[in-house]
Amino acid sequence: MLTSVRLGLTGGIGSGKSTVAQLFAKMGAVVVDADAIARELTLPQGQAMPLIVATFGPAFTTLSGALDREKMRALIHTDASARQRLESIIHPMVALETERQAQVGVHAGCPCIVFDIPLLVESATWRQKVDHVLVVDCTPEVQISRVMTRSLLPRDAVEKIMSSQAGREQRLGAADSVIFNANLTLAQLGAEVHQISHRFGLSSK
Ligand code: ATP
Repeated sequence: MLTSVRLGLTGGIGSGKSTVAQLFAKMGAVVVDADAIARELTLPQGQAMPLIVATFGPAFTTLSGALDREKMRALIHTDASARQRLESIIHPMVALETERQAQVGVHAGCPCIVFDIPLLVESATWRQKVDHVLVVDCTPEVQISRVMTRSLLPRDAVEKIMSSQAGREQRLGAADSVIFNANLTLAQLGAEVHQISHRFGLSSK
């Protein structure tokens, strides 16, 4: 029987998850990116769009037929039932597509499938789907400064996103392994991922 380790990779905004995921990919892991899948579902022609339009109306689409993220964000910020309706459309589709991509890796004989899941700790469903939780940990100050630089967001906007995510303690409490990525250079981070990835059957090409 084909088996692969299912590694759940998570961390707060700006902690360095995507960077770590890329490093795992370099080591030969198949990376399944839940956020990228969710975004694709809501592009023009995205699989979720017909149901979104049927549920919320065409006012929540852009001219090109994609989800109007700003408008939807504003709605679900104040309307919990709208958030639930949106999630009940998107989440099952993300679950199916992540599993499909993972199975491609399993059948190709990949020893480790990395699931890049920003809200893994917040989701009981996701935690059950992975064998090992790897948390990329970081100090809040470094997270804020990275995201302000990368996304040109003001500090209070970054802090608001951080306060909507699990706190550092909660995330660390759910971790099987931790990479502390606050004061590492990118080269040091690469070396750390290199070392950890051997535990999951990966080796550099
Ligand atoms: P998000 O949740 O917003 O997607 P993330 O956790 O995936 O964020 P990354 O996109 O990997 O975080 O990293 C955020 C920024 O910080 C990127 O510009 C990345 O290049 C940089 N970065 C990450 N780790 C380091 C590091 N050790 N040294 C220098 N820069 C880093």
